[in-house]
Amino acid sequence: MAYDLIMIGGGLGGAALARVMAQAGAKVLVIERAEEFTDRNRGEWLAPWGVADAKKLGIYEALMAGGAHELPFFTVYGVGADPIRMPLQQLSQSGELSLGFYHPDVQTSLLTAAEDAGAEVLRGTAVRGLERGGEGVTVSYQNGSVKSVDGRFVVGADGRDSVARSWAGIDVVRGPQGRLGAGVILESVDVDPESGHIWRDFSRGCRALFFPQGPDHGRAYLTYPPDELPRLNGHEDWGAFSDESTKMGVPDTAYGSATVRGSLTTLDMTERWVDEPYQGHVAMIGDAAGATDPTHGQGMSITFRDVVALSDALKSHDDWDEAGHAYSESHNRDFRSLKTYLDWADELQYAIGPEADARRDHAGQLWREDPARNPMMILNGPFKVPTELDRQRYFGEV
Ligand SMILES: Cc1cc2nc3c(=O)[nH]c(=O)nc-3n(C[C@H](O)[C@H](O)[C@H](O)COP(=O)(O)OP(=O)(O)OC[C@H]3O[C@@H](n4cnc5c(N)ncnc54)[C@H](O)[C@@H]3O)c2cc1C
Repeated sequence: MAYDLIMIGGGLGGAALARVMAQAGAKVLVIERAEEFTDRNRGEWLAPWGVADAKKLGIYEALMAGGAHELPFFTVYGVGADPIRMPLQQLSQSGELSLGFYHPDVQTSLLTAAEDAGAEVLRGTAVRGLERGGEGVTVSYQNGSVKSVDGRFVVGADGRDSVARSWAGIDVVRGPQGRLGAGVILESVDVDPESGHIWRDFSRGCRALFFPQGPDHGRAYLTYPPDELPRLNGHEDWGAFSDESTKMGVPDTAYGSATVRGSLTTLDMTERWVDEPYQGHVAMIGDAAGATDPTHGQGMSITFRDVVALSDALKSHDDWDEAGHAYSESHNRDFRSLKTYLDWADELQYAIGPEADARRDHAGQLWREDPARNPMMILNGPFKVPTELDRQRYFGEV
């Protein structure tokens, strides 16, 4: 067998797993379609539990080398209400703060770290298919001509629109139509650079967010139901983006002098996931295994959790088919727990109307009296499997 592990995709998931497994002595090949990583609307706020897992994986230094910026606070605004500036180190179980970064720079840094650990990396090379046979898997890829290579175990780390899933015979499940997310990098912004920011317009189910990547620049987002606003794309829609941000509560001073860097684009954020991320020596990780609504900022953290689960399983089992099944069990427990909690958060936070407002106020009041009612998995990760009693306590029904 030419390789122990072949990674389809060298984004944060594929690169992190390649580094960890190469360090453990495995012969690893990463095949990455992009010659260079370029700007796209992708994860740039890493939650405290993702930072904790990055440290566990030994990739924290690579994130920092890619320009990650510490964000000790998260500030939540409701239209007309006083902002709440949350100190993350005190509030999160891990005692970590969050990070903000420019995704392409961190991808580059992590893939370089994988190479430094001994993984081979093919850039500008697209995987075209895979075929199982005997004990291993043959992966074909386009690099000038079509070539193929054998691996003992293959990992689909090719993102939310993964095609590796279908090559592996793993069905994808799509959630109901989700929100749209418009994002753009802004320079000369005037907001607290030590905090992530979310402005919530409960009356329309819309949110504005800003994640600093330095003292005065970062990514601004608008998230909204598809019937609220059209897709905003290109420089010509910056005026509409800025106006809508103001309507959602962003103060005029914040983006008043801002200039746009790169392109403004809108993405359909509908969730998608697989029921079984492992089948016959092929495992899916990261967004290819499950992409939650990016509004919650959990994608990179669950990706790193997948890397922890799969690398632990591969390192502790001689039989990698058994390792694949152990990973699947661990991924499903964590992904389903997190998704259950995010579904509750959506149900509570995005419902519109006086009844929904009253329900939110009631639950919020009870959380202040007894913080354990809200497991805050956005900061803490899926540390427990939610029960029906947990649900009732979260919504303030008991
Ligand atoms: C708008 C938006 C905002 C987000 N914000 C956040 C946030 O604030 N915080 C957070 O934690 N998460 C966020 N996320 C989610 C986060 O970006 C993802 O969870 C994370 O990037 C997943 O990493 P990945 O490695 O699984 O996939 P990706 O980053 O998508 O990487 C997949 C890689 O595979 C390569 N590839 C694809 N097909 C092939 C092929 N056939 N052959 C070879 N290579 C291939 C691609 O080029 C790419 O490099 C956001 C997502 C979106 C869409």
